[in-house]
Amino acid sequence: MAGKDAATREEDLRTGMPFWLKTPHSAVPATPRLPRDRFDVIVVGAGISGALVAEALTRAGRSVLILDRRPPVRGSTPASTAMIQHEIDVPLTRLRRRIGPDRADRAWLRSVQAVGDLVALAKRLDIACGMRPKPALYLAGEEMGARALAAEAAAREGIGIKADYLKRADLLARFGLDRTAAILSPASASANPAQLTAGLLRAALARGARIASPVEIADMAELPSGVALATRRGEALVAGHAVFCTGYEYLPQMETKSHRVTSTWALASRPLAGLPPWMRDTIVWEAADPYLYFRTDETGRIIAGGEDEDAADSNADPGKLAEKAKVIARKLQDLTGVRVGRPAYAWSAPFGVTADGLPIIDRVPGYDRCFAVMGFGGNGITFSVLAAQIVAAAIAGKPDPDADIFRYR
Ligand SMILES: Cc1cc2nc3c(=O)[nH]c(=O)nc-3n(C[C@H](O)[C@H](O)[C@H](O)COP(=O)(O)OP(=O)(O)OC[C@H]3O[C@@H](n4cnc5c(N)ncnc54)[C@H](O)[C@@H]3O)c2cc1C
Repeated sequence: MAGKDAATREEDLRTGMPFWLKTPHSAVPATPRLPRDRFDVIVVGAGISGALVAEALTRAGRSVLILDRRPPVRGSTPASTAMIQHEIDVPLTRLRRRIGPDRADRAWLRSVQAVGDLVALAKRLDIACGMRPKPALYLAGEEMGARALAAEAAAREGIGIKADYLKRADLLARFGLDRTAAILSPASASANPAQLTAGLLRAALARGARIASPVEIADMAELPSGVALATRRGEALVAGHAVFCTGYEYLPQMETKSHRVTSTWALASRPLAGLPPWMRDTIVWEAADPYLYFRTDETGRIIAGGEDEDAADSNADPGKLAEKAKVIARKLQDLTGVRVGRPAYAWSAPFGVTADGLPIIDRVPGYDRCFAVMGFGGNGITFSVLAAQIVAAAIAGKPDPDADIFRYR
């Protein structure tokens, strides 16, 4: 396992209880026994990525076994603040310089489409998870000032992504926020990530998928007509394909220098009365590093995060939790005037980043039938949607036209 020693760290991926684990319908039953049947696909990992992949594959008529070393929906997914953003961590203007305009434009456009696809999917499956389309407000900060944001908004508009550039006076008048500029764009959303994931897993189960847990996969090998996976307990499993949706833990075969694991912190307030009306309907983040981000839920809780550290293990330090939550609450108050008070919940977790802000959704190097879905940043849930689409298309033998953007690197 990269990032942490799986044998010695069997405990929760998070420090502190994320709010979402307290909400109803966020658990899914699993069997501890490995089924004997042979499945078309084994999906390793029962977080949002594994749930979306399993949903897409069962929709396409495949038989699917989902395995997890923890109970379903207990990895990093319930730690997510679940701002389902169409905006990628690396702005379009910068991504064009990094990977070229064609691929950068396609990545951004595909991200916009993925949010819409997820909102539609949750509706179609009737998943009660508070899914709500919301605009995103991207504030100027130390990483991008007013001029850079104006260029960014123009670049997005140039490829058909709606992006209103707000000058300081507009921003103050409409949102009461004092920054030099901002970009306001529709096409994002928010949801309860645990309920969303559980709902997707239930949809896959209703189509015949099975979930076994706790089962840890320790190794894999390619066979002439499939894959063999070895569990840590020494059992072997054979399937047509395997998809590793293991979040921020991965087998050595999947390791790559372009992906690193960092630490991040988040909080949920008590339900607050008297919030500015715009706050109910908008997700907010800023062009800073680390950046503050926040949104509200249906009951008026503020859910905010930030204060990232470039170290894989510092999220496991319980001593940092109260301090980081205080800083997030203070920054929120400085910006919005809203006092969070003592948070109802505060938690920390690992977080994955890549230099170009893009995930890895690809065959594991040297394997034809094993896929890795990893490297998710601030809009990880949106990228999980893309992962499900790209992997399902590859297994169906109809490669996705944008798969080249998310290759191993
Ligand atoms: C505090 C925080 C805030 C975030 N905010 C946002 C946000 O606002 N918007 C957004 O889009 N994204 C956000 N993210 C990122 C997003 O949450 C992640 O991209 C997403 O949850 C990753 O889901 P996953 O299914 O890939 O991984 P996970 O949910 O971690 O699931 C992986 C699963 O694989 C299992 N596993 C691992 N190794 C093995 C093995 N060898 N054998 C068997 N099982 C294994 C684990 O037990 C785990 O259950 C945030 C993340 C954090 C931590």
